[in-house]
Amino acid sequence: AKSAGRNNYQFFAADMNQQATERLDIERKLRHAIGRNELALVYQPQFGADNRATGVEALLRWHHPVDGMISPDRFIPIAEETGMIVEIGDWVMLTACRDMKHWIDSGLVPLRVAVNVSARQLRRRDFCETVAGALAESGLPAELLELEITESSVMENPQEAIHILERLGRMGVSLAIDDFGTGYSSLAYLKLFPIDHLKIDRSFVRDIEHDLNDRAIAFGTIALAHSLGLNVIAEGVETEDQLELLRSNGCDEVQGFLFSKPLSSAAAFAFLHAIDRQ
Ligand code: C2E
Ligand code: CA
Ligand code: CA
Ligand code: CA
Repeated sequence: AKSAGRNNYQFFAADMNQQATERLDIERKLRHAIGRNELALVYQPQFGADNRATGVEALLRWHHPVDGMISPDRFIPIAEETGMIVEIGDWVMLTACRDMKHWIDSGLVPLRVAVNVSARQLRRRDFCETVAGALAESGLPAELLELEITESSVMENPQEAIHILERLGRMGVSLAIDDFGTGYSSLAYLKLFPIDHLKIDRSFVRDIEHDLNDRAIAFGTIALAHSLGLNVIAEGVETEDQLELLRSNGCDEVQGFLFSKPLSSAAAFAFLHAIDRQ
């Protein structure tokens, strides 16, 4: 048993070592990603009950010239730990605002553009100024920008979060709580946040047809959100059955592969412009 333990330890140590090397490699490459134009945004449309587009979510993509596409699930946690997410997040915010403004100037019916904000960005003293700067520089009206903030990042320090979210709300931007249901929200706090949307996490939508617990959480979230005057967006909708279950239970908006995958800026404009005219 003792030698097995040591073997396990050796495997474990080797694995840790490989992970650490990979992280350092990503970290080193990420430092150049903005300057070398390797980052891009894709946009996934969101739809209301009448199948009309209500907005888009901006999602970050990193195309490394040698390693190819690197998934956000791999590099965003590293960007967060190293603090690089602040510079990257600023770039995301400005780029998303500029793209939407450009689409509107090119004839698109104005839509909301949602941007993911990490805890690290939210904690910065100058975060509200950064948002105001992106709006001023792009010319996008504040009401068309939505910030998606995860449940866990607001719950890190709810008192401080209320303060920041109130300032952002007064600026006119809209606010969504992302990944709802995956963290530990206190319902008492939820009521105090000046938010507009709750986003039901994809993990509850995936098996909603079969898993009665997931279904209970999704339907419960919709009821709770409505009683607090919030709209609900479900993400990760892939099938007609999921859509039907969500909509018949009052889910206000949906986003997922059933309607569209995330699209490049040019493709998103073409897609949205085409459905505008229907
Ligand atoms: P998220 O905010 O929960 O975004 C939703 C994810 O679900 C996206 O993954 C999207 O492409 C994917 N998705 C949407 N519809 C479907 C569907 O029908 N089926 C399936 N299987 N997946 C679907 P993505 O783009 O890989 O992003 C992963 C996560 O990375 C995001 O999760 C978000 O937490 C983070 N992220 C992405 N862009 C940014 C960013 O600009 N800033 C920050 N801080 N985080 C970002
Ligand atoms: Ca999101
Ligand atoms: Ca608002
Ligand atoms: Ca999610």
